[in-house]
Formats: sequence, structure tokens, C-alpha cells
Amino acid sequence: MGKFREKLYRFMMGRYGTDILNKDILWLTIILVLVNLFIRSYILYIIIYALFFVTVFRMLSKKVVKRRAENAKYLIYRNKVVKFFTVQFNKIRYYKQYKYVTCKKCKAVIRVPRKKGTRNISCPGCGSPITVNIK
Ligand SMILES: [Zn+2]
Repeated sequence: MGKFREKLYRFMMGRYGTDILNKDILWLTIILVLVNLFIRSYILYIIIYALFFVTVFRMLSKKVVKRRAENAKYLIYRNKVVKFFTVQFNKIRYYKQYKYVTCKKCKAVIRVPRKKGTRNISCPGCGSPITVNIK
């Protein structure tokens, strides 16, 4: 191992490193840098530096438990957003084959084959009855 790599390895020992939250903040920073190439706003410039500082701070932090808790909280929201957009994408992609209905009780999204008529189904999540009418 080279001297620099060994020094870097020793420096990073016990430090948090990176996670999904850090990667997403970095992506956001890159997008804002690209946007700021056209806008050239000082406020955006400050935000970019702040985000970059947060990323580096989290990476080098020795409070691993705290950083993990932040990441876990972030992942809960992130997963909701990813799930929402996946459902929207699938609604468009499989529009001809399926109809998507939302359970009123547990808010689960259920995919029903697109066949004409009225049908009664039960939610696979909570079991409550749902009436689906496809024209
Ligand atoms: Zn349900």
C-alpha cells in the first residue's frame, strides 16, 4: 500500500464515510451547480457550498450512530417518493393491461386487470372489500 493510501486509510478509520443520503445530497449539489451555470445566482452559490459542506461533514464525522439515524430517517421519506413515482410510471406503462385502484382503508395501490364490468375484490393488504368498475 502506498504511503498516501495508508495515511488516507488511517484518517478515515472510525469515520462515517458515505451513504445514500450523502450520495443524494451530492447529486443535488451537482444539479444545482449545472443550473447555476445559467442562472449565476449568489444565493444558489451559497446553497451549493452549504450542501457540499454538509456532505463532507457527514463523510468525516465520527458520530457514526447519529449519521446512521439521519440516513434511516431520510430513507423512509425517500422510499415513499420512489414508490410514488414507480406507481405513476407503471400506471402509464401498463395502462392498456391494468387499472390501478387505491384501497381507501390502508392506501395500498392494487393492480386490477382491465376487463370490462364491475367486480368486487378484496385488498391483499388489509382485506377490505373494493368495488372496481371498468368501462
Ligand atoms: Zn387495504
